[in-house]
Amino acid sequence: MNRREVIKSSVLVGVAGALATQTAQAQSNDPAIIKKARNVILFAYDGFSWDDYAIAQFYARRVLGRPLALERLLKTSPNGIQNTNSLTAFVTESSAAGNAWSTGVKTVNGGLAIHIDGTKLTPIFASAKQMGKAVGLVTTSTITHATPASFIISNPDRNAEEQIAEQYLDFGADVYLGGGTRFFDPAVRRDKKDMYAAFAAKGYGVVRSKAELMNSNTSKLFGVFSSSHVPYEIDRRFQNVDVPSLNEMTKKALPILSASKNGFVLQVEAARIDHAGHLNDAAALMWDIIAADETLETLMAFVDQNPETVLIVGSDHACGNGALYGAGAIYRASSKGIELLANQKGSLELMQARLGATPTAEQVTEIYRTIKGMAITPAQAQIVVDAITKRVFMPDSVRYSVQPSNTLAWVMNQTDAANPDRPNIGFHSGQHTAQPTMFAVYGKNLGTARIGLVDNTYTYTLMARLLGVNLRNPVMSEQEALAILAPKTLTEMYHPSDIIAG
Ligand code: ZN
Ligand code: MG
Ligand code: ZN
Repeated sequence: MNRREVIKSSVLVGVAGALATQTAQAQSNDPAIIKKARNVILFAYDGFSWDDYAIAQFYARRVLGRPLALERLLKTSPNGIQNTNSLTAFVTESSAAGNAWSTGVKTVNGGLAIHIDGTKLTPIFASAKQMGKAVGLVTTSTITHATPASFIISNPDRNAEEQIAEQYLDFGADVYLGGGTRFFDPAVRRDKKDMYAAFAAKGYGVVRSKAELMNSNTSKLFGVFSSSHVPYEIDRRFQNVDVPSLNEMTKKALPILSASKNGFVLQVEAARIDHAGHLNDAAALMWDIIAADETLETLMAFVDQNPETVLIVGSDHACGNGALYGAGAIYRASSKGIELLANQKGSLELMQARLGATPTAEQVTEIYRTIKGMAITPAQAQIVVDAITKRVFMPDSVRYSVQPSNTLAWVMNQTDAANPDRPNIGFHSGQHTAQPTMFAVYGKNLGTARIGLVDNTYTYTLMARLLGVNLRNPVMSEQEALAILAPKTLTEMYHPSDIIAG
């Protein structure tokens, strides 16, 4: 079974039909929107939960002295929440979530714009390109990662990033900006293909540093700035890591795309919110949300100046669910936790890289002091040493954690709630959750109509209507998918560690 001739009703799908009524419900909740738009921008907050929102919201108010642009957006524009389950799991990962947004149908976790039986789906940006619109992808993950990739190409394996790099060349978007040099560099690729030369031969300006990005002025732009994901905002900002910010990349993309005579579609992704959630790194997470917020300012200003543009902002799922927990008498010490976040000047990822494979307890103590702004005990330092050198992790009861970084985070847990010496932000695991997530729309004359609770496939419905795309992708039922999956081992179709590694 490779080709689905019949498009089934999209209403009765979803895990065990549990979410069956929502597609119909979404229609009636539409804001008075939405006729047609020349340009559509999707801003993806990957792995962004409502608890993450709370932390960044209060940090912005208390420490930065200004409210988030996202707070303004949520107060003034149509918004709601979206269910994020994939076809066969209540907890999604980024490819199935990306597929729901980009194709309007539910899929099994792990593939890009494709059903588990191999039926390819048409992502919305491919339809837009057919209509003559310019296409852009800007992300802080590898540019070939699941969220951007699901919007332009089909592949059964989200981790086949060398192959996805070639598919990007064939697809020919106008702007690609993100991380992932290792999937393009002939010295690193398994097949030794020079993908930089291939993009240059197709007319792209190829840039690989912030300076080159800032000086570029080509009409098609390809830029990758790090071997894997673009380093965390906290490291870029405080540790002098020389990469462009998400906002800087976005500001370079917009004029190129705006030059298109038929309009454009653009996905911007704040990808590393998710990774910081996996690693339980509250400060890295918070700073990547701030970086996203600065980018959101840019995008909202662009929409203000270009009112034929509609901006959709959404989170594909929650991750880790770090939350600011109540602490101390009448919970007053909880607010101190937000202020203590300001002491942190680097990510756990950076600390781990600097510590190397065989750190001493003294080196560990020193790096927590200088990077995380806190004193840890000799016993805690030894726990970190054991995690890195002997792979003895804590807490040993938490499976599906990404280690050893979770150990590095667990050592940061405070012991005295009444007198916090570190942010009182706790994580329950290093995994995605089933939490319904943010969804908002920004544009001219949209009013404040509430969208309410929708399914994540609604993003496709909305983009298709805005762009005048009539295509509806073939639907697969959960039962059909499970029948195909049954003979396979279900356990390792998706490896949590892959997202961190790649
Ligand atoms: Zn995701
Ligand atoms: Mg992503
Ligand atoms: Zn994730």
